[in-house]
Amino acid sequence: MTSPVWHPFTQHGLGEPIPEVVRTEGAALHTRDGRRFVDAISSWWVTTHGHCHPRIMAAIAETASRMDQIIFAGWTHEPAEALARELARIMPDPLRHVFFSDSGSTSVEVALKMALGFWDNRGEPRHRIVVMEHGYHGDTIGGMSVGARGVFNRPYQPLLFDVATIPFPEPGQSKATLDALEAQCRDKPAALLVEPLVLGAGGMKFYPASLLAEMRRICAAHEVLFIADEVMTGWGRTGTLLACEQAGVVPDILCLSKGLTGGAIPLAVTMATAAIFEAHLSTDRARMFFHSSSYTANPIACAAANANLAIWRDEPVRERIADLGDRQQDHLDALARHPLVRNPRRLGTIVAAEIGTGESAYLDSVGPRLRSFALERGVLIRPLGNTVYVMPPYCIDDADLDATYGAVTAFLEREPRMGDLFAF
Ligand code: PLP
Repeated sequence: MTSPVWHPFTQHGLGEPIPEVVRTEGAALHTRDGRRFVDAISSWWVTTHGHCHPRIMAAIAETASRMDQIIFAGWTHEPAEALARELARIMPDPLRHVFFSDSGSTSVEVALKMALGFWDNRGEPRHRIVVMEHGYHGDTIGGMSVGARGVFNRPYQPLLFDVATIPFPEPGQSKATLDALEAQCRDKPAALLVEPLVLGAGGMKFYPASLLAEMRRICAAHEVLFIADEVMTGWGRTGTLLACEQAGVVPDILCLSKGLTGGAIPLAVTMATAAIFEAHLSTDRARMFFHSSSYTANPIACAAANANLAIWRDEPVRERIADLGDRQQDHLDALARHPLVRNPRRLGTIVAAEIGTGESAYLDSVGPRLRSFALERGVLIRPLGNTVYVMPPYCIDDADLDATYGAVTAFLEREPRMGDLFAF
């Protein structure tokens, strides 16, 4: 019987194999048919310390033995209190208020609602959001509205709200981005929402920290709120705990999810400054922050996040990240020599490059073919169009890294060379 499961971002009509995982550990996924796969993309960028980190799993088990979901409107519990205290301690100073939700998308929805609520409660309603071209902030209607428009959201576009878009700063074009932001800010938008340093799902596109710092400066000068979506970049992915750190930038609102629980269980937070919290503070119930979901601040998920923070505190996570970066750089240098590889790049633990150029039929086909090829060799990668990227758990060993880059290289070796592409 065919499975009743309807998978995300999966065209069931193609009949592609759907491996069934029965066990996970470290950088590995074990399937029912006895195969082992290297999880070279950290299961959609969530797994930071490795699958089933013993401290995270123990925290989940311990908490699950004594409490489950608790209404969070007007109630609280120790795992959430401890987590909020620790986040407020380690995140940049003005970010002192922690609002919980369940996914990256909802952390962004919450951020947008906080920004609009801030202006509304101050009696100066503002509704326009400025975003960067090629951005991705989730698949809810709000998340899609502030993200790039494309084939993946075409049917829903009539329902998406308008945003102001500033161009992605291609190399040497930072000024155009900054000029566009300056112009938008003169119209008093509510906020700028950006993915700091890396546009993830938009193609692992990097931009310089100096530009992020300039964008922050322009927002502050015009009193426009600055929202950093660190759902992907947070928890060390770019080499530092937050990508914003590299630009010396402190946002007004910060979105975190994915690695917040080390990737074990869903949880997200949206952190805000005192000014934003206090704009909602009143004896008038009509000014409260109107957002919730049934599973807000699930205690078991909060316990997993507390264990993640303990790992960051007690273990040499930063050293592991730096070492993984160095080891990946060697592979990237080798990959960069291949004639089909374009724009090879690395930031922290994220390595990306484009494959091929020109012919759109080739560019459309290369990603899915590479994905299947790697899968047959026991490696999970999932190129974005013709952009191949590797973003492994920090615990990955040399053998698994070799297997990952070995699969990409073996694929490239079989491909027609640039000159032959037009005959492809
Ligand atoms: N924001 C960014 C920058 C992301 O990369 C993602 C997911 O990839 C999201 C938001 C949405 O997160 P989720 O898939 O957990 O809803």
